[in-house]
Amino acid sequence: MSRYFCHEHPEVLIVETQVVEARPGAVRLAESPFHPGGGGQLADRGVLRWSGGELRLAGIEAVAGQYWHLLADPVELAGTVEAAVDPDFRSMMAQLHTDTHVLNALVFQHFQGALVTGAQLNEDGTARMDFDLPDADNDRLRALEPEINDVIRQDLPLRYAYVPEADALAERGLIRNRSVAPPSASDGTVRVVEIVGLDRQACGGTHLASTGASRPVRILKIDNKGRHNRRIRIGLADTRG
Ligand SMILES: [Zn+2]
Repeated sequence: MSRYFCHEHPEVLIVETQVVEARPGAVRLAESPFHPGGGGQLADRGVLRWSGGELRLAGIEAVAGQYWHLLADPVELAGTVEAAVDPDFRSMMAQLHTDTHVLNALVFQHFQGALVTGAQLNEDGTARMDFDLPDADNDRLRALEPEINDVIRQDLPLRYAYVPEADALAERGLIRNRSVAPPSASDGTVRVVEIVGLDRQACGGTHLASTGASRPVRILKIDNKGRHNRRIRIGLADTRG
């Protein structure tokens, strides 16, 4: 994997680029502003515009390290295209994703370094995180809701670093997911996301520039899904849960 364009330029949502390979209904681009999804995050949505019109992006498929953009119609594109990310969907995913880091940081701090066992962000503005929390009291977990919203109100900035994979594995808590380590870049580094003053962890997703850009968050539900899977469901305010 190479570093994503959206990691280097998260604010650039429209890119003019070239088709490098195509088949009916799928295309590889010289440069893509779309996040391909992964680690519980959904792929970006958006459109490709070319001389013949506009096509909706139907998905992104990774094949042997190459990203194929799947199109809503079986058109075979060539030449120059304009790739445009859906800004509302990107914003919603970035809010949810950043808020899962905040939840995850607070759980890690309050519950003796409890690790994540799963995560999934949903298109309806909700997300679930599973934690290895065999003995935690659900009322103590519910009490994290005002703390999450306090971090949002503090508007803490996010920043990024690329650290050597061996260093990332050696730092306690940097690899927060118990089962899945984030993919390292082709140069052997791991991307580390820091919410300044709160948390650092390895992650390849899209996030907000600062926590204050998120809507408030509610804890919707807490389920016991087995001894090592305490499932916490959160939702952005004004979304269905
Ligand atoms: Zn992340």
